[in-house]
Amino acid sequence: MKLLLDMHNHTVASGHAYSTVIEIAAEASKKGLKYVGITDHGPKMPGGPHIYHIGNLKVLPEVIEGVEILKGVEANILDQEGSLDVPDHILKDLDIVLAGLHEVGFEPWDVDGNTRALLKAMENQYVDVIVHPGNPAFPIDMEKFVLGAKESNTLVEINNSSFLTSRIGSKENCYEIARLCKKHKVQIIVGSDSHIAFDVGRFDEAIKLLKAIDMPEELVINTSIERFIDYLKKKGKPRFAKGLKF
Ligand SMILES: [Zn+2]
Ligand SMILES: [Zn+2]
Repeated sequence: MKLLLDMHNHTVASGHAYSTVIEIAAEASKKGLKYVGITDHGPKMPGGPHIYHIGNLKVLPEVIEGVEILKGVEANILDQEGSLDVPDHILKDLDIVLAGLHEVGFEPWDVDGNTRALLKAMENQYVDVIVHPGNPAFPIDMEKFVLGAKESNTLVEINNSSFLTSRIGSKENCYEIARLCKKHKVQIIVGSDSHIAFDVGRFDEAIKLLKAIDMPEELVINTSIERFIDYLKKKGKPRFAKGLKF
């Protein structure tokens, strides 16, 4: 299975990541990726960027080193109503919006609270991807979540770094979520969640998972630029709604 895009990458602007946009683009180009997302954390992440940083992503070129650069964010879900730390008037102009639960100051909720927070965040029309839903620090009702993703046409992330250095203990949950996505025909997106350029496009562990559960290729959006752009177009992203770009 060849994965052509990586929509989850952090630059130095995230505060605990170590590469620049240019370094990420160069690595993506080297690895043969066609599309790469720049998705730094939202401002509530300790050490994260000011909201102006996200609002000013428009200054990035659309293509660097032959790779399409998608301007995005990994927003923090702040409450059980699914509120995000990036306002809609900024989200609406971005090419890709990831959202997820992180330790950013609130007391942990129970399964119902976490599930509700994700379901409500997916009701936001600008949210495209829920990141690392298998994180054991935020247990959820996995089937409810997957069905919610289907209903709202939100992509479910399989996060490669959850198998390596982050969110230890995610593996079993990720397998179960992927199996449920297969069962209910919900599209997933594989993300490296790179915090240094060397990890851009690193999908080894996620690919093992996809093989193990015999995931149909058409449910993995990274396998087709056409399907991915079509998805963004239907979501009304200004950059792609203008016309198809391949
Ligand atoms: Zn994250
Ligand atoms: Zn991330």
